[in-house]
Amino acid sequence: MFEKKEKDMKKNLIGMNKEDLELFFLSLGEKSFRSKQVYQWIHQKGVSDFHAMTNISRELQEKLNEKAEISAPKVVLEKDSKDGTRKWVLSVGEGDLIEMVLIPEGKRATLCISSQVGCAVDCSFCATGKQGFSRNLELSEIIGQLWVAENSFGVPRDHASKKVTNVVMMGMGEPLLNFDAVTGAMNMMMDDKAYGLSKRKVTLSTSGLIPLIDKLSEVTDAALTISLHAPNDQLRNELVPINKKYPIKKLLESVIRYVDKCGDSRKTTIEYILIDKVNDSIENAHELCELLKMIPCKVNLIPFNPFPGSSYKRPSSMRIQTFKKILQKEGYITTIRTTRGEDIMAACGQLVGQVNDKTKRKERAQRRIEAQIVG
Ligand code: SAH
Ligand code: SF4
Repeated sequence: MFEKKEKDMKKNLIGMNKEDLELFFLSLGEKSFRSKQVYQWIHQKGVSDFHAMTNISRELQEKLNEKAEISAPKVVLEKDSKDGTRKWVLSVGEGDLIEMVLIPEGKRATLCISSQVGCAVDCSFCATGKQGFSRNLELSEIIGQLWVAENSFGVPRDHASKKVTNVVMMGMGEPLLNFDAVTGAMNMMMDDKAYGLSKRKVTLSTSGLIPLIDKLSEVTDAALTISLHAPNDQLRNELVPINKKYPIKKLLESVIRYVDKCGDSRKTTIEYILIDKVNDSIENAHELCELLKMIPCKVNLIPFNPFPGSSYKRPSSMRIQTFKKILQKEGYITTIRTTRGEDIMAACGQLVGQVNDKTKRKERAQRRIEAQIVG
């Protein structure tokens, strides 16, 4: 009975890469060049109706309509901030909601995408972590976020003037714990026949799961950002609990391996949240300078974004500037991330979506993390 159900289900073509789509077309008895046409209709023109695909026959349109669909997460809410930032709340079924943010900045527009519903890593400063964990997003739901964002500017799209110039995996979730779907989607973002973003414009941000950083270099050469947040293990254990398993020096060694393997001289970005009187002292800044001599990197300081229920505070601008100047004096390119979209709760660490049944699922997620990390 289950088999029959599987057979009757429409295939969602949005989550298929070029190769999988070609195999699907061959299984229908169709020529492979047809799959290339449909791939471009989906990812370059944003079309979801097979009947609008004017260069394929009526007969094939009907066949596809019967066997397949093009389905992205559904927009539940769209909110615009005073500063131009736009946040979407998207439904991915069974009460699970995720959030996605587009941050325009001059000629650039950076889309911040979610990889999981919630997050089980549970960093002490993160609203997403405090929501618990429901499930990994599927590849179709990850690439589907970029698809929805591009389509919000009108369909069919004009691929030559695409709106999203950069993608960062910095929304809800720890992307490396949803490895196959995330890397599959990132590779589609960089595929010239789909979104055609360059490898420097697609960034994965991680709390630092060493074996998975090593595995990452085998399947992609996208940009890597490390959420460090502390200059020593004692403090990092408190803020980013995964550090107890993967301490700082070993983490930075894995970053060196990643950059070496990707074969270019780019600098890795180190993210450092500044939390008032927790990790923002002058001593912390000097300790960070010492530590980072290990790797070629630049530093992005993120003033803590408050959320309901958190006792942490954002430091004064004087403390933030002092911290920055110490790093700059030591020669580190250091930026302070301007807070965007705060009025619509779209700033870093404020994305919470809606996560089902968090307590039980969180326990399950912890076990799953253990299993993946050990494996
Ligand atoms: N799980 C991944 C990616 C998602 S979090 C990671 O941790 O890297 C994206 C970024 O937002 C990370 O650098 C994270 O540390 C930061 N962040 C989380 N909570 C925040 C908060 N309350 N204020 C400011 N930045 C926050
Ligand atoms: Fe998860 Fe990243 Fe938030 Fe930590 S900062 S809880 S890893 S989303």
